[in-house]
Amino acid sequence: MARIEPNATELTDPFWDATRERRYLVQWCGACGQPIFYPREVCPRCLVADALEWRESNGTGTVYAVSVQHRPANPTMADRVPYVVALVEVDAGGGHGQTVRVMSNVINCDPESILVGDAVSLTWEELSDGRNLPQFEPRA
Ligand SMILES: [Zn+2]
Repeated sequence: MARIEPNATELTDPFWDATRERRYLVQWCGACGQPIFYPREVCPRCLVADALEWRESNGTGTVYAVSVQHRPANPTMADRVPYVVALVEVDAGGGHGQTVRVMSNVINCDPESILVGDAVSLTWEELSDGRNLPQFEPRA
């Protein structure tokens, strides 16, 4: 069974379009100079709406929190258990070490082996419409 695929909206279209080229974009506010996750219409810090932009992450991350799912979150995930659900601090693309925390899966590993603080990097899972779903895997 194929997994449930994420919807794109006008707000998140730039992010999803970039995944077609396996590029990972993070929204930034040019007014206060901070990365924003998840994408918003207005900067949640300074409330400026017309300075939002996208920057490309290098895809490196660190596991901030982790759990192993032994029961699937929905039926389409049944053939994947056990799988890792993690909060990952991902490079935000600003060049100064800023990160955003994103919920994702860590794949290509023994699920029980993933620990807080582990270094991970971006990998991709193909979706049915040409987009790619960002996932993470242990960094070599
Ligand atoms: Zn701002």
